Amino acid sequence: MLVPFSVVIVGAGVLGAALADRLARSGHPVTLVEQYSPGHVRSGSGDESRLIRSAHGDDRFHAELSRRALVLWRELDPALVAPTGVAWFARRDDGWEAASERTLTDLGIPCERVDATGLYPSVCTDDLRFTLLEPEAGVLRARDAVRALTRRAVQAGTELRAARARPDGERVVLDDGEVLEADRVVWACGAWLPALFGELLPLRITQQDVFYFGADSRWVAPGIPAWVDYDGAAYGLGDLDGRGVKVAPDIDGPPFEPESAERVPRPEHERLARDYLAHRFPGLAGAPIIGTRVCQYELTPDSRFIVAPHPEHGDRVWLVGGGSGHAFKHGPALAERLERWLLGSESPETRYGLGPRSADVVLRTAGKTPQ
Ligand SMILES: Cc1cc2nc3c(=O)[nH]c(=O)nc-3n(C[C@H](O)[C@H](O)[C@H](O)COP(=O)(O)OP(=O)(O)OC[C@H]3O[C@@H](n4cnc5c(N)ncnc54)[C@H](O)[C@@H]3O)c2cc1C
Repeated sequence: MLVPFSVVIVGAGVLGAALADRLARSGHPVTLVEQYSPGHVRSGSGDESRLIRSAHGDDRFHAELSRRALVLWRELDPALVAPTGVAWFARRDDGWEAASERTLTDLGIPCERVDATGLYPSVCTDDLRFTLLEPEAGVLRARDAVRALTRRAVQAGTELRAARARPDGERVVLDDGEVLEADRVVWACGAWLPALFGELLPLRITQQDVFYFGADSRWVAPGIPAWVDYDGAAYGLGDLDGRGVKVAPDIDGPPFEPESAERVPRPEHERLARDYLAHRFPGLAGAPIIGTRVCQYELTPDSRFIVAPHPEHGDRVWLVGGGSGHAFKHGPALAERLERWLLGSESPETRYGLGPRSADVVLRTAGKTPQ
């Protein structure tokens, strides 16, 4: 029999919204507090698109988490997933892609080595050892997805509050002075977490710029696969919903303040994006930039997320974040786990704890320009 426990969640990015949705649909009373609107442009979840792929090198946990999430996103609304596939450009025989291929094959998740020249109107493969295609991977319509999660959470009984919150022990204090209390409080505040909890969290907030280039109709997604160059620290996708061909240099950017920073892309990031495009997709060399986005990563030292109880408040207060540039896809699947962790019916993933961490294989791209 369900024993309902009340929950206040602060932050309606993908992680907070997915958790609110999961808990409310299980019958728990949920209040979701958001300082702006769900999926707003300054949030990490507020862009048009996010890749969803299962390849995670030899990390089975995240491969399975992502695979489960794909099912849950489709259940929420199949239109949220653009079925592009994702092509992995492998620069080494024995790198991330080969490890991913072994793991995916072991888990029964489709992947195959393909000739990339058949995938894109123009592509240079001179520096590649092979291309691994995940045909069932794709692109999430991210902002729409956060709004859809929030909508369903509200339909299931979640109370959505527009307010800025701050912690006061186990209590949540809103900017008008109102105090919220609950059996569990979850702070899922993305890049705002360090300002609220400071030294507790080993997070670096960095500026990440995304560029959209004008291209002809042969570059429309889902007609061509999204792509990731792990060792080349870049990823992108075709022209989805008329936004332009997306190219994102994935080096760790400079420190960034999510609330007050001007959202203007850095010239060195633009140079990286233009150079990558000209090299990998020569037919698009010189294509005009038709849009940009400035976002932020919340990087942990090992790129594993943070999902942990606050050390001073037993299991009543939880910190959730550290998306490290790859959390979006996992949202609803992580929420399923988090429900069990909050209820105490399952122990939380130890790698998501607040203890010391050291650098590990990055689960996004290498995050550095190739040597
Ligand atoms: C350029 C870029 C590309 C990415 N690409 C991918 C990808 O392809 N695939 C993928 O899976 N992931 C990707 N990611 C990562 C992913 O988008 C993030 O990890 C994820 O969106 C973070 O979600 P979140 O809910 O933790 O944080 P956020 O989305 O930032 O949400 C936090 C929310 O908390 C609210 N908040 C903060 N403080 C308060 C407060 N005091 N009171 C009330 N509300 C508050 C904020 O307003 C915000 O809405 C990418 C990220 C970036 C920046």
